[in-house]
Amino acid sequence: MNKPGRNDPCYCGSGEKYKKCHQKIDQAEEREQRAWKEAGRFLHRELLKFARDERFAESFKEVLSFYWDGYYDVDTAEEMSMDEALRFFDWFAFDYQPKDSPRLVELYHQEHRQDLSSHQQETLDKWLEAEPSGAYELVDFEGQTLQLRDFVSGENYEAFEPSGRGSVEIGEVILARLLPIKDILQFSTSAAYLPAAEITDLADKLKQAKEADEEANPGATHAEFMRRNNHLLIHHALAEAKVQGRPPVARVNPNREDKAMQSAAQKITRIRRRR
Ligand SMILES: [Zn+2]
Repeated sequence: MNKPGRNDPCYCGSGEKYKKCHQKIDQAEEREQRAWKEAGRFLHRELLKFARDERFAESFKEVLSFYWDGYYDVDTAEEMSMDEALRFFDWFAFDYQPKDSPRLVELYHQEHRQDLSSHQQETLDKWLEAEPSGAYELVDFEGQTLQLRDFVSGENYEAFEPSGRGSVEIGEVILARLLPIKDILQFSTSAAYLPAAEITDLADKLKQAKEADEEANPGATHAEFMRRNNHLLIHHALAEAKVQGRPPVARVNPNREDKAMQSAAQKITRIRRRR
């Protein structure tokens, strides 16, 4: 919406000048929206920092190569691009389930919630319940608003992505985590996607994984299944990229405006091998 000038008549039709009518209300609302956005950015940055802590180094070594299906391991971790490092640590923080210990996001919640602002606390509480990273078919879009369908559960979601759909076409599959910021779902890091030609047998692979998972974990929810199996999405993308002879995971939009995240990722990629 285009806002009127200070001295123009207010859009509400009161006949008052904008500055004497709705301007203050609008400004307060903008401040509030900025505060939620900033809370989300801050939290995500802090969480990924938390995930890089020395105490998780053993787990990091254990699962890095697992997540990347051997494409990266501890010896080549530094070669991850910033986006790849972000995606890995995002998964590590939210989806990785250590043995006999809560997920990293749950630990962070236990240890740091009391230090956070009310906006940050409310956001973090929601993130504990957020869906695991998944595969979403692009059903429709309008500007920055994307209509998505979970490739596995068929559930529909509306997401807001500041950089829009990038080069993803309708029917193609976005690999992302949808994180709520206030009441809006956003991609947690710059998302990857599967072009139409690379979706191939993904549905079959997931169906098989689901059958095996149901046998091992009767009554598991969709979220529990995805958390145990969403590395298969990356493995599929890697295998398809190999067939196509291009670098592993295409980004939805390389111009995404998350500089703070990018600089956090630069630090992440500087993680050195620890012996
Ligand atoms: Zn007004």
